[in-house]
Amino acid sequence: MPATDWNEPPRADIAIAGDKIVGIGLDYRIDDTRNMEILDARDHLVLPGFVNAHYHSHDVLAKGTLEEVPLETWRLYALPPQYPPRSTEEIYARTLLGALECLRSGMTTIQDMLTLYPYEERHMDAVMKAYDEVGIRVVFALQYADRRGIDTIPFWKDTFPPELHPLLSTAAEPEHELDLIGHFETTRLKSPPPPRVSWALGPSAPERCSPALMRRTVELAQRYDVPIYTHIYESRGMALQARLTLPHYSGLLIRRLAEEGVLDRRLNFAHSVWLSREEIDLLAEHNAGVVLNPQGNLKMKCGIAPIRTLQDAGVRIGLGCDNCSCSDAQNMFVAMKLFALLAAISDPVPGPPQSVRALRAATEAGAEGARLGDVLGRIAPGLKADLTLSDTRDPTFSPMNSAARQLVHIEAGRGVRHVIVDGKVVVRDRRLTTVDESTIYDAVNAVFPEFRRDFATISQRVAKLQPWLDCAHRQIMAAELDIDRLPFGDA
Ligand SMILES: [Zn+2]
Repeated sequence: MPATDWNEPPRADIAIAGDKIVGIGLDYRIDDTRNMEILDARDHLVLPGFVNAHYHSHDVLAKGTLEEVPLETWRLYALPPQYPPRSTEEIYARTLLGALECLRSGMTTIQDMLTLYPYEERHMDAVMKAYDEVGIRVVFALQYADRRGIDTIPFWKDTFPPELHPLLSTAAEPEHELDLIGHFETTRLKSPPPPRVSWALGPSAPERCSPALMRRTVELAQRYDVPIYTHIYESRGMALQARLTLPHYSGLLIRRLAEEGVLDRRLNFAHSVWLSREEIDLLAEHNAGVVLNPQGNLKMKCGIAPIRTLQDAGVRIGLGCDNCSCSDAQNMFVAMKLFALLAAISDPVPGPPQSVRALRAATEAGAEGARLGDVLGRIAPGLKADLTLSDTRDPTFSPMNSAARQLVHIEAGRGVRHVIVDGKVVVRDRRLTTVDESTIYDAVNAVFPEFRRDFATISQRVAKLQPWLDCAHRQIMAAELDIDRLPFGDA
């Protein structure tokens, strides 16, 4: 079998047995077709299932709620302080709905970096139950931190009157009653994960985690050989915070991690919008990767990641769709198109074609970041049968000049017809086969009034904070921020 040509992919039959691809070839001969299903893939592109390498299922119900909200303000909506605890029914329903959206747009693996606050075992069980029932593959991490949000955002402490400070920390906060990662190790990491689940660790962001917590995270990741997902430099304010608080490391968070000895190859840094040149080189040197989320970065006015510089440095680049309240679509086609287009802004000089790079970021690189590159992300014998079949009897693909360019620049998800995970057809003719979709919508409708009521309360609370939020945001945008990656940096 020749190496995959993403522009003109070869015609071939794909044989699957159990959860694996066992053969690929033209006019595959099968003598005994009893007990065998044949899925007619004529007039379809067969893709490796997409890997949504950065996603949070905790705010699935908040899709379409916000616009024109900068990141620092958005956190108060997505992970609000003093949020009434969510019901198990709501957590179950939102997990099902998010997984359904991901599958219907051709994702077979999602990295769920989930905040469950306050943590309850029954909530975790509901999440696992939902994923098991839907049949999607999940790289699962709980999100944790040991520093309060208000201490990690520039100007907030001084801008807001002290009586408002309790309203500014968010639910991605230190658990006071529970050693969350110790509990996660005992109850989950030490045991084999459920089918289609693999474990990961989710320190919220380096500035929200003490050196001791980051060290503990990396030690656990090495002991259990699991990946780590964290956020870095999503907004200008996050880079500014590093400059203001890390004078010993030239104001660079990645250098802090490198000098603390925790810049591990298992790390995946979501966003990476405001990385400096030196930090990009450090990531490449340590084989740490990034996960870009262009939709959310643009919607929350964060900026554009240095795509070309990251590529030229050889940094592993995955793609994600992030939160439903900021992206808002779980749609890898949109993410790929933005990735390919924004490369033009990250370096305006024409460079290598980006469509195949976008497809690889959405498949292979995401799998590698999850430490699953030897079993996922490509179509090859021996790998897991996680496949997406896109219907080419559609204006998107007629005529077919380049499968890669038409997938990235024209397709928006309409063509996704069948999705196979672990050798099982979980979406057939655009319908979920594992769970009746109408029961998912009914479950969401049942919990939605309570969610909507609580979200309205939060919105009113944030509205009261708006004058100070605006003032702090203006200070962040006005502050000087040196960044040594011209021509798109600040300096
Ligand atoms: Zn995120």
